[in-house]
Amino acid sequence: MRTPSVVAILGSTLTGEFEDVKLMNELLTKKNKKTGWNTPTHVDAASRGFIAPFLYPDLEWYFRLPLVKSINVSGHKYGLVYPCVGWVVWRRKDDLPEELVFHINYLGSDQPTFTLNFSKGSSQIIAQFYQFIRLGTEGYKNIMENCRENARILREGIEKTSQFNIVSKDAGVPLVAFSLKDSSQHSV
Ligand SMILES: *Cc1c(COP(=O)(O)O)cnc(C)c1O
Repeated sequence: MRTPSVVAILGSTLTGEFEDVKLMNELLTKKNKKTGWNTPTHVDAASRGFIAPFLYPDLEWYFRLPLVKSINVSGHKYGLVYPCVGWVVWRRKDDLPEELVFHINYLGSDQPTFTLNFSKGSSQIIAQFYQFIRLGTEGYKNIMENCRENARILREGIEKTSQFNIVSKDAGVPLVAFSLKDSSQHSV
């Protein structure tokens, strides 16, 4: 059986580290060529979708890579909107399988919908729209740079205590993940 899709995670939940989507795309291209498959990639950019464009604009992780067919990003994380708004973008209309779209004849006209529930408040979408207009590219960039700086200061403070191992990476989601050193590693 062939693999239906390979998912790359941009911003691991545990450490904020990002997977190398470009390398994955290259390896998968080779694999597809060898096997005759046509396996695409989905990028789970829940955390980093709103970070990478501002802090790492040259990083290749989205539709620039030919096998990336869809990307999800959480508006309620670094999109700076309260829960629950998330986005998913497909490269082309036909990359979203037709059988996942429900067609509902509502008030006399066809309404295609791809959601799990029907009636739903729109406040988060309005809030996301507001943030886009209010902050713009520059605003998001300033906030993300500030987050990165805060993470750096926090990491340095935690390192100074000598009690913890830092497990997050410098490049990635601006967060600090750390574990307690076992007693043999403690400096006295
Ligand atoms: C947060 C997160 C999710 C879940 O996203 P929601 O928008 O909260 O549903 C999925 N994958 C990763 C990598 C995440 O960080």
